[in-house]
Amino acid sequence: MNLHEYQGKEILNSFGVEIQRGIVAQTADEAVEAAKKLTKETGTSWHVIKAQVHAGGRGKGGGVKLAKSLDDVKEIAGQIIGMNLITPQTSAEGKKVHQVLVAEDVYYPGDNEPEEYYMSVLLNRGSGKNMIMYSTEGGMDIEAVAEETPHLIFTEEIDPATGLLPFQARRIAFNLGLSGKSFKGMVKFVNSLYTAYIKSDSSLFEINPVLKTSDDRVIAVDAKVTLDDNALFRHKDYEALRDIREENPTEVEAKAVGLNYVDLDGNVGCMVNGAGLAMATMDLIKQAGGEPANFLDVGGTADAERVEAAFNLILKDPNVKAILVNIFGGIVRCDRVAQGIVDAYKNMGNIEVPIIVRLQGTNADIAKELIDNSGLDFHSAIEFQEAADKVQQLLS
Ligand code: GDP
Ligand code: MN
Repeated sequence: MNLHEYQGKEILNSFGVEIQRGIVAQTADEAVEAAKKLTKETGTSWHVIKAQVHAGGRGKGGGVKLAKSLDDVKEIAGQIIGMNLITPQTSAEGKKVHQVLVAEDVYYPGDNEPEEYYMSVLLNRGSGKNMIMYSTEGGMDIEAVAEETPHLIFTEEIDPATGLLPFQARRIAFNLGLSGKSFKGMVKFVNSLYTAYIKSDSSLFEINPVLKTSDDRVIAVDAKVTLDDNALFRHKDYEALRDIREENPTEVEAKAVGLNYVDLDGNVGCMVNGAGLAMATMDLIKQAGGEPANFLDVGGTADAERVEAAFNLILKDPNVKAILVNIFGGIVRCDRVAQGIVDAYKNMGNIEVPIIVRLQGTNADIAKELIDNSGLDFHSAIEFQEAADKVQQLLS
């Protein structure tokens, strides 16, 4: 589950990470009130207005702007709220902005120039350890840094059994070229950030930029946080942070009916039982020259109702040119699944794309007969390869 910047910052702050302070606003008038309140708390009269959407690169798309007066705040917040923000990380249609974060300006002048760093905490699945990735080249173009000058990105691996060791936090501050007050500030920042990552059961914390202010404070200016869905049961209070306006509507619908669905870009819809078989099926589709349009695990009980719900989800995607049903009848009998498929099809009426049905396992032969004799536009298969060949034929 992804969070908004302001929610990520709240979590960070609750674990002692110093952040750029801000208040969320839904309207331009609320933004002005927020700015007044911030000025009282922080003393700064300049503010940044930041679009709150689940996508990075907002600055590049015009979703982060500096306001030097309350009039500016009102005007900019009015522009950003309701806009369709297009960034390098959104689709071409962009994302609708429902709210902004009014934040204190932290790039104020002082003894030193403010400096932007990059830092993220995530799991390295290869080594089974957590890692902190960081760079002096923070700001808006970390993707370009990773591509063109990867040696400027450092990695610190952390054994989850020992946690972050003191020398590791110091090494990070040292590699970032810090000394004195900002060195100490960075050590504290890294420690608190790592604690936040662990205690919130997150799979990603990305802070870009981490800012060294002109008076050498180290603070989080941005926060991209992904909570681990599998640990949400341990954090009942995080459920309230979900913003379904930001999520794929088909995925939200699938979740509501208990189907495991992930939207993808391809042209072949898949309906499969079991995540492993779903992955293998997606490979099969690729081999046959297609691209999977989705991942869909209907789970153990593939009855008519679930099958129909699954067809409905798949058919919402206009790119789907064919559907491959690949079900293994272990606990559930293939003939019952076949009946479910036929019933669902009849119920739905006009499905305009061809459907390849591969049922294997208990009563697979009876199931094939049911499918073949249904009089509907099905193409049945028993072997994996047979199904792949049919996908290929139907796509060409
Ligand atoms: P992103 O573009 O979605 O990654 O959004 P960020 O929160 O990282 O902000 C983008 C950029 O806005 C930052 O890299 C900064 O250059 C700029 N920015 C953020 N906060 C401030 C601020 O307080 N003052 C000024 N002048 N610029 C800011
Ligand atoms: Mn950023």
